[in-house]
Amino acid sequence: MSIISIIIPAYNEEKNVPIITKKIIECFNNFLVDLHYEIIFINDGSHDNTQKSILEEAEKNENVYFINFSRNFGQRNAIKAALDYCHGDCAISIDCDMQHPIELIPQLVKKWQEGNHLVCSLREEDKSLPYLKRLSSKVFHRFISFLSNTQIDYGVSDFRLMDRKIINVAKNLNEKDIFWRGIVRWVGFKYDTITYTPNKRLSGETSYTMADLYRLAITGIVSFSVKPLHFGLYIGLGFTFLSLLYIPFIIYSFVNDIAVSGWSSIIMLVLFFGGIQLIVLGIIGYYLGEMFMQAKQRPNYIINDTNLK
Ligand code: UDP
Ligand code: MG
Repeated sequence: MSIISIIIPAYNEEKNVPIITKKIIECFNNFLVDLHYEIIFINDGSHDNTQKSILEEAEKNENVYFINFSRNFGQRNAIKAALDYCHGDCAISIDCDMQHPIELIPQLVKKWQEGNHLVCSLREEDKSLPYLKRLSSKVFHRFISFLSNTQIDYGVSDFRLMDRKIINVAKNLNEKDIFWRGIVRWVGFKYDTITYTPNKRLSGETSYTMADLYRLAITGIVSFSVKPLHFGLYIGLGFTFLSLLYIPFIIYSFVNDIAVSGWSSIIMLVLFFGGIQLIVLGIIGYYLGEMFMQAKQRPNYIINDTNLK
């Protein structure tokens, strides 16, 4: 009989843990009776009683497991830890705040049983979200599609099913700051999607700020593409060509003794090119920083305790 691992990163979710556990168990008991399952909570260094809630659930139900991090390592590393330890023939990652509808789990499983190795869920646009958040996610998507060679669907969320084949690849990844939405497509295999309308967060607050989303966007680009590194070359070639067109005019002015009053234009050029040079340096610096962090080979997460083998 197949085993399904449900993996749930939890950061300050004490109230949501019992509710999501109950919903998932109901879902398996009602709609997926012929399957085994395990629920793995990753307590990502919560400051509230999340770990206590998880332990209570684990005591009541033998299918509930936990991985308790030594501190906050972030949702993406929590997913990595669960994939490293889970026993499932496939794994479904889901948020703890009930924004991802539990009742769609049977749909994901059905697509998997039909032979798909990766089933992602695409979020239908939530008109109640702040306009800026919606706009930034659209811009991010366009931008990353342009820069990266990996196809990422618009509105794709972290609610997805991954077959054992993908889990095994994920286990062997030796990458910091894993951008899951891209990686799961990058590995290949058979892929399908479902759509869903996100619910409101049940309790607690989102832990992502605009700065986090911006960082996620940069990680998405830097971990998939070196195109930004070529930016300086193209701009440089462009301006070299333009300057070649301009040089005859300067020589002409010099020879004919035409006085050119140039303060404003020179200051403008100095500022403009100073800016461009710093941007290019910054891009190189970003890649260098990523290489530096990767070179240290520190683990993606540190586990305090777990009841998983
Ligand atoms: N999460 C986590 N570590 C973090 C931040 C978030 O494990 O540092 C978990 C959180 O508990 C939730 C999921 O990641 O299960 C998504 O987080 P959140 O709901 O805050 O993000 P949003 O839905 O606003 O994108
Ligand atoms: Mg959420």
